[in-house]
Amino acid sequence: MTATYDVVNPATEGVVETVTLTSAEETDAAIGRAHSAYASWRAVAPADRARLLRRFAAAVDADIENLAALEVASAGHTISNARWEAGNVRDVLQYYSAAPERLFGRQIPVAGGVDITFKEPLGVVGVIVPWNFPMPIAGWGFAPALAAGNTVVLKPAEVTPLTAIRLGELAREAGIPADVFQVLPGKGSVVGQRFVDNPDVHKVVFTGSTEVGKAIMAGCAAQVKPVTLELGGKSANVVFADADLERAAAGAPYAVFDNAGQDCCARSRILVQRSVFDRFMELLEPAVQGVRVEDPSLDSAEMGPLISAAHREKVASYVPDGAPVAIRGDAPTGAGYWFPPTVLAPVDPADRSATEEIFGPVVVVIPFDDEADAVRIANDSPYGLSGSLWTADVGRALRVARALETGALSVNSNSSVRYSTPFGGFKQSGLGRELGPDALDSFTEVKNVFINTEVT
Ligand code: NAP
Ligand code: MG
Repeated sequence: MTATYDVVNPATEGVVETVTLTSAEETDAAIGRAHSAYASWRAVAPADRARLLRRFAAAVDADIENLAALEVASAGHTISNARWEAGNVRDVLQYYSAAPERLFGRQIPVAGGVDITFKEPLGVVGVIVPWNFPMPIAGWGFAPALAAGNTVVLKPAEVTPLTAIRLGELAREAGIPADVFQVLPGKGSVVGQRFVDNPDVHKVVFTGSTEVGKAIMAGCAAQVKPVTLELGGKSANVVFADADLERAAAGAPYAVFDNAGQDCCARSRILVQRSVFDRFMELLEPAVQGVRVEDPSLDSAEMGPLISAAHREKVASYVPDGAPVAIRGDAPTGAGYWFPPTVLAPVDPADRSATEEIFGPVVVVIPFDDEADAVRIANDSPYGLSGSLWTADVGRALRVARALETGALSVNSNSSVRYSTPFGGFKQSGLGRELGPDALDSFTEVKNVFINTEVT
């Protein structure tokens, strides 16, 4: 019997669509086809591969409303976020469409000849995507991988496969051969595990939990298979007394409650200098109350539901009876996996809510005394993905930015993702870099060639 999965709308709990799950045998067959297609794909002339990626980008652009509507229905994303996410896939494809013609090697001075390097593709790349940002995270994997001459098999999260399936159709419509980019909906323990174990997959890109990421890295070690890992986070939003407190407080809710907090970059620890703590909390209150949590298909929605009932239960466990709730926003009642924006303060930095990734709309606020104290608390985490710091002192901004053990930081801003700049984590938040010029290094292997020019 063929296994299927009912994709559920997290805002209504209704079934959106039933998807057929790929079996282990079908996954191996798809990997085999991707392996066979590799020789011809890497041989496509650079300008032609670039053209195909630009056509793929144009196809995504023309389908943005459809893709966005699918993500609203199947992941509960707000419509404005979902449009941005589909646009991000287009932009990432457009950005890496310039790569095939710019995969430069080097010419290195040596005695007795000429030495040149090539950036060779790896072969079949397996991309494993989580449910929190189904479109962008897929694109960050497949766009640079395809541009560098690899073929791609992609596994969306079991619960959110619809936009990935649609992106696969758009790639084919754009002229990308079917075996060059295949989308395989299915279970992590089945499809994802074959990406790790099948020796014809030459690289795994994984985004998701640190726990599964470690298992994938261990599995890939058996074949010395390279991995890129984007894992969890517990990022700090550090507010110094000399900062523009109004701006810092107005932005802080969106830096953690966006996508209902289901964001590896969520600034889920707000660290505030003790001398302005009370003033900051006064400013934070109306900002949190102002977050519009409602039907995510409405243009005005700023936050939707959580992905599932099970996930809501996990998030709720961080706000037990007696938890120090300082501010609680509104959320719809009735059908849907809703959870209100919640601010916990004051919180002991050792409390579970301050150390574990909650992946929901719950933020802790912690006071600090001085710069050294702020850096110590911020770095006291196994994670190090993103973060923000707010100060008017440029010297402090640079000192603290250099001192924080985190991969994507912003000063007087909460934005951490741009397609043209590198993104990835320190410590247990990950390995390798996505986006920007750096990602291409993750999808190529350097080959050195020496050519003897001595007269024989
Ligand atoms: P997860 O279990 O790590 O899943 C991420 C992806 O890996 C999914 O596609 C999943 O497939 C797949 N997978 C699961 N087990 C696998 C295996 N043994 N081999 C290969 N692939 C496998 O994450 P989750 O269950 O969705 O979320 C759990 C927690 O992880 C969240 O609460 C959050 O804390 C964290 N998380 C972090 C990020 C991030 O962006 N850093 C993203 C998502 C989740 P299935 O769909 O079949 O499970
Ligand atoms: Mg899981």
